Amino acid sequence: MNLPPTDLYGLTLGELRALLAGWGLNPIHAALVWKRLYLGLSGSVDGAGELPAAVRARLLAHTRVGVLPVAAEAESSDGFTRKYLLGLGDGQRIEAVLMRFAGRVTACVSSQAGCAMGCVFCATGQMGYRRHLTAAEIVAQVVHVARAQGAGEGGGRVRNVVFMGMGEPLHNYDAVMRASDILRDPAGLALSAERITLSTVGVAPAIRRMADEARPIHLAVSLHAATQEEREALVPAARKWPLDELMDACRHFSSTLRRRIFFEWTLIDGRNDTEGHARAVGRLVGGLPAQVNLIPLNPTAGYGGLPSRSEAARRFQRILSEEFGLPSTVRQRRGIDIAAGCGQLATPRAGPA
Ligand code: SAH
Ligand code: SF4
Repeated sequence: MNLPPTDLYGLTLGELRALLAGWGLNPIHAALVWKRLYLGLSGSVDGAGELPAAVRARLLAHTRVGVLPVAAEAESSDGFTRKYLLGLGDGQRIEAVLMRFAGRVTACVSSQAGCAMGCVFCATGQMGYRRHLTAAEIVAQVVHVARAQGAGEGGGRVRNVVFMGMGEPLHNYDAVMRASDILRDPAGLALSAERITLSTVGVAPAIRRMADEARPIHLAVSLHAATQEEREALVPAARKWPLDELMDACRHFSSTLRRRIFFEWTLIDGRNDTEGHARAVGRLVGGLPAQVNLIPLNPTAGYGGLPSRSEAARRFQRILSEEFGLPSTVRQRRGIDIAAGCGQLATPRAGPA
């Protein structure tokens, strides 16, 4: 069966109004549809008694609601992390993660099926690139997590979204920005821009574009190394967007938007966790309003490195703080037992749709 091409999860509220108006219907009904999708978290407009029959009939005939079916799910043994394998319409699969700790509910979403950037220590990079996700497929992941969260104990709606799942969000700029606009709509999921964070491998021109378009969401840049040579060995995309160019783009971002940037650093034992490395990070980002997020390496099948010891992480933090006045955090290791940690998301090659 051919499904209607317009996925309601991919439309802004304004576009939905325009769609109704174009059919000669009163655009005011868009608000009801929106409420049903994002407050009721209902995956269908069918049975929406409050909608006039003509609106419902048109929507049912010409649009769909792209709910992503769950192919598998797993919960970490500590109960804080839940990972979902979700199916896409063409048979591809992606993963999304629900994280619940310290009273916060966070959805970690994918922006692509696979990733083209090839970072050596990342399971998504190791699987290669399949395709970009649409804005609707990104929004649908957050809706899924919100619904799953509502169903569990503890209540609390999704308040944080991180683009730290599969894929490089700035390689899929338009869809990711459209999705973040839809997620922020105050009449819908109403996420605060303050609580949306996009993590990038360092696509310098797209960082500049975010600044020039005054995108309100947070930026996290995956650094991992503070010299071009060391960075290229871990992050092949650094050849395309060299460190100098990346740091120029970061300076442009922070001077244009006057916002702090997060720098991520995967801590690999003996590889990038010495005192010298900490000082190199300090010198590189010290002049910017920044915070460094240290992520002890999570295991993946294709990379043999080990996570730094906790003393090395503490020493790294101390140098950043005492010598450069840079705040830092060490990311807690959560969901490792279900391979839901940073860089562990990967899906087997999809079967036929
Ligand atoms: N493509 C984006 C976002 C997804 S990865 C990016 O690279 O930033 C989210 C974070 O997890 C990135 O900082 C990434 O470098 C880090 N990461 C990747 N593999 C990891 C691993 N095996 N252990 C710890 N962190 C990892
Ligand atoms: Fe892609 Fe990010 Fe993984 Fe690198 S770390 S391969 S950019 S998902």
